[in-house]
Amino acid sequence: MPIPVIGPVPTPRGHPIPVCRRQSPKHWRGELVSRRALLVGDAGGLVDPLLGEGIYYAVRSGRLAADAILAMWRDSARRLEEYEEMAIREFGTEFRIAARLSRFVYGLPRSWHRWAGSRYPNAYRRVLERYCQVLQGEETYRSLWLHMVRKLARPFPPRTNA
Ligand SMILES: Cc1cc2nc3c(=O)[nH]c(=O)nc-3n(C[C@H](O)[C@H](O)[C@H](O)COP(=O)(O)OP(=O)(O)OC[C@H]3O[C@@H](n4cnc5c(N)ncnc54)[C@H](O)[C@@H]3O)c2cc1C
Repeated sequence: MPIPVIGPVPTPRGHPIPVCRRQSPKHWRGELVSRRALLVGDAGGLVDPLLGEGIYYAVRSGRLAADAILAMWRDSARRLEEYEEMAIREFGTEFRIAARLSRFVYGLPRSWHRWAGSRYPNAYRRVLERYCQVLQGEETYRSLWLHMVRKLARPFPPRTNA
């Protein structure tokens, strides 16, 4: 069966992924809910600032928004702002730490990563392993950050050639 032509195909346009840049919960207030409008996913800037992942947050924030709408539907004392509060609770800390990590990961020159990898191969590999666990959902950014802070607070281990 021929595909019906419904009009000219618009010229594709690129757009930056709207990663979350909010520094603290106070910057979220009023950003996701405005009167009767709720912003989810990319529209709400709910994209992981380190990896640019947005699919999980789009689905999850959609569910949180639906929960808030249904709660208000059933009980008029409930408020749509509860969606924003839930989103801050669930994503706020993770996004804040991911933003901090992204400044660290992308801010340092490649030569620094090469130097750290050759000077402290074991420590560097362990951080990368933890990072992969975050990608697999086995760790959170918060636990990765705490691990890094604990490691940096200790004296650096002696150089190994392993
Ligand atoms: C190149 C690229 C690679 C990516 N890779 C990954 C990845 O590997 N993993 C990951 O997690 N995320 C990735 N992302 C991010 C991810 O795709 C988005 O964060 C996610 O799709 C956001 O979902 P959303 O529902 O908020 O928005 P979208 O998926 O953009 O959905 C919005 C929908 O609204 C429609 N729409 C827009 N305007 C109107 C209108 N006026 N009327 C009706 N409909 C409208 C659009 O056509 C679209 O279908 C990537 C993004 C890009 C651009």
